[in-house]
Amino acid sequence: MPTPHRAETKSRMKLSLTLLLMALVTMVFLLTTTILLIGSYQSKKKSLIETTLNLNYANAERMSKTVDSLFRSMHSSLLFSADQIANMEASRPEDIDAYLDLMRHSSNYFNSIILFNENGSVLNNSPKTLGMMGKRIQSPQVLEALRLKNSYLSSPYTSSTTGRMILFMSEPLYNKDRHYLGQLAGTVYLRDYNILNMIFGNNNIDESGSYYYIVSAEGHVLFHPDAERINKDISSNEVVQRLKRGESGKMQALNTKGVSMLAGYSAVPANNWGVVVVSPVHVIQEQLLAHLRKILAYTVIPFVILLLSVFVLAHRLAKPFVVLADLVNRIGKENVELPELKPHWNREVDLLTKAVVMAWSDIQKQTDQLTQDAMTDLLTGLTNRRALDISINQWIAARVPFSVIVLDVDKFKFVNDTYGHLAGDEVLKSVAEILTASIRPGDICARYGGEEFVLLLPRTKPDHAFTVAERIRKTLEKSEVPLPIKVTSSQGIAHYPTHGRTREELLGHADEALYSAKHTGRNRTVIAGE
Ligand code: GH3
Ligand code: MG
Ligand code: MG
Repeated sequence: MPTPHRAETKSRMKLSLTLLLMALVTMVFLLTTTILLIGSYQSKKKSLIETTLNLNYANAERMSKTVDSLFRSMHSSLLFSADQIANMEASRPEDIDAYLDLMRHSSNYFNSIILFNENGSVLNNSPKTLGMMGKRIQSPQVLEALRLKNSYLSSPYTSSTTGRMILFMSEPLYNKDRHYLGQLAGTVYLRDYNILNMIFGNNNIDESGSYYYIVSAEGHVLFHPDAERINKDISSNEVVQRLKRGESGKMQALNTKGVSMLAGYSAVPANNWGVVVVSPVHVIQEQLLAHLRKILAYTVIPFVILLLSVFVLAHRLAKPFVVLADLVNRIGKENVELPELKPHWNREVDLLTKAVVMAWSDIQKQTDQLTQDAMTDLLTGLTNRRALDISINQWIAARVPFSVIVLDVDKFKFVNDTYGHLAGDEVLKSVAEILTASIRPGDICARYGGEEFVLLLPRTKPDHAFTVAERIRKTLEKSEVPLPIKVTSSQGIAHYPTHGRTREELLGHADEALYSAKHTGRNRTVIAGE
């Protein structure tokens, strides 16, 4: 058997309807939101990647066109000047120097311009500070240009004379007789301020972390926000490999540092360089997180409203159950007045309420009937001895003065013996009817047992009770009973509080008076103590 404590713990662990519904709603919400977030995350990610790739590709294309026309301009500038200088044979070196200075300053294409003869000896250079006049350049790039006797574009390399990282392009000089004179070369100082960063800006990393770079046809970096990376061979990079094949497009790829990047790339037709615009993938992840946070913020408000509504609803739904449980609990234990139970909007609650009300009123009817039965004498329908005792006790408790008349039918044994028990019953019923008809409202008439009856007359003095008893006795005597006999009775009277202060005392005195009436000849009334 469970101890009370354990039973209590058990009942405390039971789930309330409110909690159950709220848990259910929370679960549904969490599930829905998770599905929503996953779906939204996937589609947003896809679209962000797409957009970034497209944007980077468009930027790469645009820059590629710029680089293409820039390179063509640089090339034609060299070409034109080479032609001019080739026809300036008669000119003084100072004039050529001035021409080179003018050429360098007017376009800003080149950081330096050098004119050297077919042996690689420098004839003129701009700026003058280069100090290469008369020197013979032996770098492989210069030798290659001399060997080709044609247009030449180098890969980036470090000049052995100046130690600078440079890009070198040159055009041959031929005089009128198609005699080869040497090369006119322009250099771009890749790590210094040059034409490329003049056009594209010094710092090409935007706040999102996106940046761009330019690679040469051989896969060497020409331009990069990180100057350290200039001239690095990145031809192993998949994007660069595509560029080397002359392709333009967009793709997600790892950069040389192993970071996942969204790249747009475009090949420059004029020189087979490539422009790459890249955004690190983590930029997208940040945007995605912001997007998810926004969705969450939007869903939390309706969720809270929903939860509150469920709380109110569940509370309203559960309340009638508690009220009904409490009501049913009290039925039978105390005298319950059925509260007014309104029809409920919930079908089940309404059904239950109606059922409980029906059951309750049935029980009430049955209880009333049983109570009534328990208080009533079966034969005569008068109050029985139990109910009489209760009434006497109540009156005594309330200190109501009253008289008791104990009435006993005389020689009733004779009636039974002569006419039978059933006939005797009929006589008892007639006596009861006569007694009931003789009393006032507020008086109590009871069958005390056998052929003995008791009348209680509130606020009645013994002498008045005597008058009543005598009137009854005479009525009985004169009454028509269903037998050819005269019914007489003897009465004993006692008064509260005159003759006794308890029920037993009072009834004892009334009985004594009754016996006295019997012994003094019957068919009479005696007041206790007289
Ligand atoms: P007394 O004048 O001294 O009262 O004589 P009595 O015969 O009335 O008194 P007794 O107490 O000797 O007899 C009472 C009789 O009442 C005995 C019993 O058969 C009868 N009696 C008691 N209860 C009932 C009843 O419910 N029905 C019938 N028919 N008779 C009853
Ligand atoms: Mg008797
Ligand atoms: Mg009798």
